[in-house]
Amino acid sequence: MDQSQLHVKLRHLPAVHKVLSATSYLEEQYPFALRSEVAAQTIAEIREQLVNGCMDEVPTIERLIDMVQTRLQEIQQMHYRPVINATGVILHTNLGRAPLAHDAVRAIVDTAGGYSNLEYRLEEGRRGSRYEHVEQLLCKLTGAEAAFVVNNNAAAVFLVLREMATDREVIISRGQIVEIGGSFRISEVMRESGGKLVEVGTTNKTHLYDYERAITPETALLLRVHTSNFRIIGFTEEPELSELVSLSKEKHIPLYEDLGSGCLIDLAPFGVSSEPTVAESIRAGVDIVSFSGDKLLGGAQAGIVVGKAEYIKRLKRNQLTRALRVDKLTLAALEATLKLYLTPEQAVDKIPTLWLMKRPVADIQGIAMQLQERFLESGMNERLDIQVVPIQSQIGGGSLPGEELPSYGLQLESRSISLTDFEYELRNLPLPIIARFHKDALIFDLRTVFPEQIDAFVKGCEDVYGKLCTFNYVDR
Ligand SMILES: *Cc1c(COP(=O)(O)O)cnc(C)c1O
Repeated sequence: MDQSQLHVKLRHLPAVHKVLSATSYLEEQYPFALRSEVAAQTIAEIREQLVNGCMDEVPTIERLIDMVQTRLQEIQQMHYRPVINATGVILHTNLGRAPLAHDAVRAIVDTAGGYSNLEYRLEEGRRGSRYEHVEQLLCKLTGAEAAFVVNNNAAAVFLVLREMATDREVIISRGQIVEIGGSFRISEVMRESGGKLVEVGTTNKTHLYDYERAITPETALLLRVHTSNFRIIGFTEEPELSELVSLSKEKHIPLYEDLGSGCLIDLAPFGVSSEPTVAESIRAGVDIVSFSGDKLLGGAQAGIVVGKAEYIKRLKRNQLTRALRVDKLTLAALEATLKLYLTPEQAVDKIPTLWLMKRPVADIQGIAMQLQERFLESGMNERLDIQVVPIQSQIGGGSLPGEELPSYGLQLESRSISLTDFEYELRNLPLPIIARFHKDALIFDLRTVFPEQIDAFVKGCEDVYGKLCTFNYVDR
């Protein structure tokens, strides 16, 4: 394009004030400053595209107004929003781990918008502690003398090591020096906390005498980490918890167990081979136990520490607790979730993590078949092969490795539609749907799709199918 042609086009670009007056009908929704900024930005970008030759014609004023309005909407729309989890991974860390129970959500809603008695004793009319509200519940549910809550379990591990073992030795079995997700490593946390790691035994076998021999006057703590995200099988050995407790008592060295998942009830009835419960560890005589609030417990993100009163008291006094403290929303959700555990049958029905685990496979199969039927009715089988297939769901979240639950899924295959595009479009819906690929097929595991999401799920799939058929989609 020659220069004079370009100049003519640039002169036809509307001025910012023109676009502003044309979008004045939006003035109640968007402040003037934001509208002018977006209008100026949009015009500047069009100018640049015209100069680069990426755009041939000046858009009409109607088109420009539409562009400005779309951008304003994008700015106002929440980027952080709900998704439909069709991966079958129950505790999906990328998708927010544990979905909260309705009771927990209600507790957040009830207290969040106003003032609350977060640190105030209503009976006495004076300052209280924010932890009081959940401490008694935690003691009741685990049998511990005292309890404390921090931001997450990683913070709990750090705090315990820092308070109990700075500049002193901590004995741990080699097979338990683990990395959790996001490169959180026991060895690194130990270094940061100022404790000295004393590794004993081997990767697969550690005996009680390994611990015994490593004890010196410098030993501050025996640490046992539940290998919650992997499993060593075959020729393996670790001392029994009771043996470690006896050793700890005999030598007067406290025993700390990082349980990871924080299971409060027996999961065996769900077909999940027994995960140790917090109460079991406390009953066995472990001095300090820590675990997450948003793994198997199914509550809000938190690190919970329970154990002997003398140690919990020390942790509470540590200056770090201020930096690691939980907010009012977490405490509201945690208290409501813990209350449900007072009646275990209620916990299993109302806490989504547990409910999803116990969901009967026949129910999931039934839903898969209904969905297949609905997709056939809307004609989606014209370009998709839609099958109901038996699959395995994972618990996830670094909990219960190798432990899978039988489930059913809907499997899509196609020769005329790119499933890569299909999956991309699903992820970018207003209510995104997250699925997984298995070989060349796209799979929806219906275990983690809540019944109230089914209609939105169907609509999302139909919309994407329609879009891909209409636009004769080009491969990315
Ligand atoms: C998950 C886990 C952690 C970290 O817990 P977060 O609550 O995610 O910080 C620490 N230790 C073990 C053994 C774990 O499984």
